[in-house]
Amino acid sequence: MTQYEPVIGLEIHAELQTNSKMFCSCSADYSNAPEPNTFICPVCTGLPGAMPVLNKKAIEQAILVGLSLNCSINEFNTFARKNYFYPDLPKGYQISQYDLPIASKGFLDILDDTESPMRVVVRRVHLEEDTAKLSHEKNYALVDFNRAGVPLLEIVSEPDMRTVEAALSYATKIRAILRYLRVNSGDMEKGVLRFEANVSVRPSGSSELRTRTEIKNLNSFRALTRASAYEIERQIKVYENGGEVVQETLGWDEAHGVTVSQRGKEDAHDYRYFPEPDLPPLQLERTWIDDIKNQLPELPDAKTARFISDFKLTPSEAHLLTSEQTLASYFESIVANSKSSTKTIHSWIAGEFMRYMNDSGLALEEINLPAEKFAQLIDMVTDKTISGNSGKIVLNEMLKSGGGDPQEIVKVKNLAQVSDTGFIQEAIEKILSDNPKEVEQFLAGKETIIQWLMGQVARATKGKADPNVAKELLVKALEERRK
Ligand SMILES: [Zn+2]
Repeated sequence: MTQYEPVIGLEIHAELQTNSKMFCSCSADYSNAPEPNTFICPVCTGLPGAMPVLNKKAIEQAILVGLSLNCSINEFNTFARKNYFYPDLPKGYQISQYDLPIASKGFLDILDDTESPMRVVVRRVHLEEDTAKLSHEKNYALVDFNRAGVPLLEIVSEPDMRTVEAALSYATKIRAILRYLRVNSGDMEKGVLRFEANVSVRPSGSSELRTRTEIKNLNSFRALTRASAYEIERQIKVYENGGEVVQETLGWDEAHGVTVSQRGKEDAHDYRYFPEPDLPPLQLERTWIDDIKNQLPELPDAKTARFISDFKLTPSEAHLLTSEQTLASYFESIVANSKSSTKTIHSWIAGEFMRYMNDSGLALEEINLPAEKFAQLIDMVTDKTISGNSGKIVLNEMLKSGGGDPQEIVKVKNLAQVSDTGFIQEAIEKILSDNPKEVEQFLAGKETIIQWLMGQVARATKGKADPNVAKELLVKALEERRK
C-alpha cells in the first residue's frame, strides 16, 4: 500500500491594530462600535468618487511583521484591485497588493511534531483591507460595514509543512509574534486572526506537488488541525480509490467535522488584478525601515534562548514562559524581586498560578497580583516561614482578592509553619494513640501507611508543621513502638 505524505501551506489573515482603517479615517475598532454601520464613510462603503488614502501606521506594522519573519522589505510598493463580487465588498473589488508585496522571501523556524527544528519559508506578506461582516439569518442576510476597510495583513507560507502538528506549530508561533509586536490581539474568537490551509498529499518520498484544495476561514487552532487532518485523510481515500483530487475551495463544517465544497478554485487571473488607479506607488525610505527595525522587541526565539542561558531553564520551561511576552516579563520581574531560584519561580508560575488562570479564564493582564508580592510569597516558602501547601492557600487568597500582603494573610489565617518539635510531637503522640490499627499495620510492614499518618499530622497541625521535621518525628515515634 502506498504511504502518503501531506503537503501543507498556510495563508494567515491578521487584522492590524491601528486606530483608523486602511484607506480612511474611520475607527478600526469595530468590535466597540455602538451600532452596526456607524464606523463608516464614503471611502469604506465604496461610494463613487471617494478616494482612498494610505494609513501610515498600518504600513509601519506590516514592516515590523515582515522584519520579524526575516523577510526583505520591498521599498517600491504598488497596490492592486482584486475584482470579485460579494455582498460584503461594497466596491466590487478589494484593494490589495499583487506583484509587489511589502515583504517577501522570509522564513520562520519552528519545531515539528518530533520537536526537531524545521524552517518554513514565508513567501510574502502583503497589505489589504478587510471586508464587511455578513450575518446570515433564516431568509435574509444582514451586512455591517464597520469592519469594511480595516487593515488586513496576509502572510503566505510556502507549502513546507509535512504534518498537521508542524502547521499548528507555525500558526501558533505567528500568533505569538503578532502579539509580541502588539499589531494583533490574537483573539481568534473575534475573528481578528484567520487561517487558510492549502492541503495536498503525495506518495512519501516523492517531490511532486499534486492538486491542492484550500480550506477557508479557519477561526481557531482546533479548526485548523481538525480540518487539515480531515482533508488529508479524504484526499488519501480519493487516491486509494483510483480517483483524482479536484482543485477547489472548501469550507469547514465544525459541527459535522467535515470539509465542504464551496466553489471551484479560482486562479489569480480570475480576479482581473490591475493597478489601483487611486493610489500612487508607495516608495519607502530606507531610513524609515531602519528606524522601524530599531523598534523591534526581543522576539520569542531570542527570549527563549536567553531564558535558557541566563536562568538555567530547560527549553520546555523557557518556551512556556516566553509563549506570551507579558508572561515572560512577569517572570523576570519576580526573579528581580526574589531570592528564590529561577526553577522554583518557574514552577510556581507553571503550577498554581497558571492553574488559577485556566480555571478563572482570566488573562494575565486581568490578574492584579504585583510581581513583588508574588516574589515575597515564594520566598516565604523557600525560607520555610510557611509550608508549600500554605503557600498555595496564600497565593489563591492573593489572586482572588487582587493583591494583599502575604505576611498579613499568613497572620490572619494563622499559617506560619512550626518547627517547634514539642508542638509537633504532641500532635503525633495523640494521632498514634487514636489510631492503633494503623500503627499495627505499619509495624507489620505496611510502610505506605506513613503517608496517611502524615496527612493526619498535617490536619491536626492545620498544615503548619514543617513536613521534614514532622516526618522525622513520626518515624521515630513509630519505631519506638516496636520495642
Ligand atoms: Zn471609512
